[in-house]
Amino acid sequence: MATTAAVYAPLNERPIKNTIVLFDVDETLTPARLPVSPPMLQLLSALRHKVAIGYVGGSNLVKQQEQLGSPQVDVTTLFDFCFPENGLTAFRLGQPLESTSFIKFIGEEKYKRLANWILHYIADLDIPIKRGTFIEFRNGMINVSPIGRNASHEERVAFTAFDDEHQVRAKMVADLKAAFPDLPLTYSIGGQISFDVFPTGWDKTFCLRHVEAEKQRPDGVEYTTIHFFGDKTSVGGNDYEIYTDPRTVGHSVKNPEDTMRQVKEIFFAGETA
Ligand SMILES: [Mg+2]
Repeated sequence: MATTAAVYAPLNERPIKNTIVLFDVDETLTPARLPVSPPMLQLLSALRHKVAIGYVGGSNLVKQQEQLGSPQVDVTTLFDFCFPENGLTAFRLGQPLESTSFIKFIGEEKYKRLANWILHYIADLDIPIKRGTFIEFRNGMINVSPIGRNASHEERVAFTAFDDEHQVRAKMVADLKAAFPDLPLTYSIGGQISFDVFPTGWDKTFCLRHVEAEKQRPDGVEYTTIHFFGDKTSVGGNDYEIYTDPRTVGHSVKNPEDTMRQVKEIFFAGETA
């Protein structure tokens, strides 16, 4: 795959010093789940000649390669910093940084206790039907489903209605919290049939530890201005924490066109496009 990093000045020689610009992916750089537009890529490239740039997305690198890269272009060549999975995985100038995971964080012993508890609880749960895959193990979280993730579309719809009435998931989350008060975990009920369990604080602010670590590097920069652009910036949105974090200057955008307009206004004012 092509590499483009060489055409940009080293991070510590960019014209606007100590500034990094981070972007959410879906609805900020690209339409939801769709590829990036050529004008957006051109603007990002122009911006990268002035400041350091990066993205932070909830999904994994494979998905971001599909949306931001192409068969000829590796997504990690398009940004100085890539933060898939909110930065649990990270790339700096195309090279991987140390990654972390749910299992590394919690440890095998505690995870086993948690998984055993969940499976016992679901075994004793009286709900109309059960299918399979009650715990899905992912890099940064586990996803727990009382009916099981193999449920069909119709079965999911039926479970959602049942859950609305009987609060199966809400009760299970409350019981989990009571059973594991020592584990610093966040429980998030979303979608139709499941809830996520992840370490508290592993939202998009997680990636800021990589940005802050830059100042320790011989060729690194102390980023005193960290811009963040995202679309889901209100309470409950997945950009809310990093958007409101005191370490960032937050910019709320409506869509990729709005991102382009704001970036031009802030960084290219008075220049002809
Ligand atoms: Mg978004």
